[in-house]
Amino acid sequence: MGIIVQKFGGTSVGSPDRIKNVANRVIQEVEAGNQVVVVVSAMGKTTDQLVSLANEITSSPSKREMDMLLSTGEQITIALLSMALQEQRHESVSYTGWQAGIETEAIHSNARIENIEVSRVNESLKEGKIVVVAGFQGISSSGDITTLGRGGSDTTAVALAAALNADKCDIYTDVTGVYTTDPRVVPSARKLHSVSYDEMLELANLGAGVLHPRAVEFAKNFEMPLEVRSSIELENGTVIEEEVSMEKNLVVRGIAFEDQITRVTVSGLPNELHTLSTIFGTLAKNGLNVDIIIQNQTDENHTNISFSVKTQDLRDTLAVLENNKDLLKYESIQHEDGLAKVSIVGSGMVSNPGVAADMFQVLAQENIEVKMVSTSEIKVSTVVDQASMVCAVEALHDSFNLAAVEEEKAKVRL
Ligand code: ASP
Ligand code: MG
Repeated sequence: MGIIVQKFGGTSVGSPDRIKNVANRVIQEVEAGNQVVVVVSAMGKTTDQLVSLANEITSSPSKREMDMLLSTGEQITIALLSMALQEQRHESVSYTGWQAGIETEAIHSNARIENIEVSRVNESLKEGKIVVVAGFQGISSSGDITTLGRGGSDTTAVALAAALNADKCDIYTDVTGVYTTDPRVVPSARKLHSVSYDEMLELANLGAGVLHPRAVEFAKNFEMPLEVRSSIELENGTVIEEEVSMEKNLVVRGIAFEDQITRVTVSGLPNELHTLSTIFGTLAKNGLNVDIIIQNQTDENHTNISFSVKTQDLRDTLAVLENNKDLLKYESIQHEDGLAKVSIVGSGMVSNPGVAADMFQVLAQENIEVKMVSTSEIKVSTVVDQASMVCAVEALHDSFNLAAVEEEKAKVRL
């Protein structure tokens, strides 16, 4: 007997029938002898609908009221799921974030969890109840409702699992696990049996939407084993853990990609010590996130800096640069949109030289020009034309042998 935290995402609780299905999955764990805490998201597209509703009132809603509004989505689900469990004669109780003791920093719309006061949840578990907790929300020290950022229910689940010293945390979703790449784009994509925390962190940050990056961070810090699995199919999912035993021979384990990238080039900047910190400090102060950065000196006194941004941030980026022309002292700005980022990820890269070279060779063979590159110990990212993105992903998937990952037999399991 142990404590298990189960998390069910929006699609998995998208209708009354789906909620009844979730109740059955929860009851199976209870009948196997476990104490169960369930974390749920808002039903289906509820959060998006609430955002649209706010936009019909104002184009600039205050962040506090936005959190007040968005947190209602999860509150609907916890009540309905608890009713579904009680309907099947199981004792259960639903808690909002603050009732479950989830304390966050006092930042709206993207707060981090600081502490979880688990006594109330623990007490309910001791009383033999199934505890249903609203994901994505908490309370700040000033007593205001906060939210954890879109997709943040994963983080609620992992943080609760860590605070409760749970045996494991299962993330139930509408896919059956973590794939070598997006199976909707590359049909030969394979489900991975396991991925390391670091690989998953890279994949999540590179836009593999299956897990909230902060949830992976928590899991890594607390060594909490996670499993991503389907709420419908009864088969093993993907385990995320420290040491990955299977598929060890795979140097590259996943390929992530993201379109709608723009490269901005600022030319004729003074070649001075503070140039880099001034330009990126100015962008950061205005809340703009840049990704890959390349600098090259053009002559003794001048330097050019290129960086990539999400295309949706281009307008703001150009405006900030133009408004600060006197400070930054550049000569001109160019930009190129219609780009995409394609990345390969795998822990095996640390000890295998030449993986980046292999990647560049594959892209060159496909006549794909690489416009920017960045690397970490376990990742190589390239920026290419958006029109070549799928071709790049397919070619890399092939040449790094990812289609050969053996699909585990769809074992029927709890
Ligand atoms: N309901 C929130 C969202 O749609 C949180 C979550 O689903 O994890 O982003
Ligand atoms: Mg999600």
